[in-house]
Amino acid sequence: MKRFIVFEGIDASGKETQAKLLSSFFKKKGFEVLLTHEPIYDEPIGKVIKSNLEKKISLASETIAMLYAADRHEHYLKVKKALNEDKIVISDRYKYSNMAYQGANGVDPKWIEEIEKYSLDPDMVFYIRVRPESAMKRREEKDLYEENIEFQKKVFEIYERLSKKYKFITIDGEKSIEEIHKNILKYLE
Ligand code: ADP
Repeated sequence: MKRFIVFEGIDASGKETQAKLLSSFFKKKGFEVLLTHEPIYDEPIGKVIKSNLEKKISLASETIAMLYAADRHEHYLKVKKALNEDKIVISDRYKYSNMAYQGANGVDPKWIEEIEKYSLDPDMVFYIRVRPESAMKRREEKDLYEENIEFQKKVFEIYERLSKKYKFITIDGEKSIEEIHKNILKYLE
């Protein structure tokens, strides 16, 4: 059974919404689930990342890419433990977010792949595909760090490439929340 499931996509694409729905679905079926999110802002490395996002400090994009990779490695150890305990793991974002966001900040994608290579590949990646313009309309409802549409467009373009390279399952994220959830379940059957 495929047990390590990741959601990726630009800001406000609906990852959190779908990760929660999928987690509830599995729980109702009697499975144990670890629903998790990256970066982990309340842990030491995540705190530095958050300070940088909030512009309290200003670190180079390469440094930030390494911090994301370090945060993920800590996260990955928790994921591995949960998988060993036979839990289903659902992660809202994973290493591809580093490639997409720091790639959009100008960091060499090959190098990001290199520093991320020790984090286990997930079994399935659902790429919730929403155009930046559509996602921007949803932003008022959620506090987000990256407000620049041009930046979101760059991130989107990288996700489009990553989706082919890593064979993501692309889900049309512009449909209704319920339709998207049903489409995700179809792939899991
Ligand atoms: P992400 O985790 O990708 O940033 P969220 O799941 O938090 O995105 O969703 C961002 C906002 O968009 C929330 O207010 C959420 O209720 C709304 N939203 C999520 N999915 C949809 C959808 N399919 N259609 C319209 N709005 C949505």
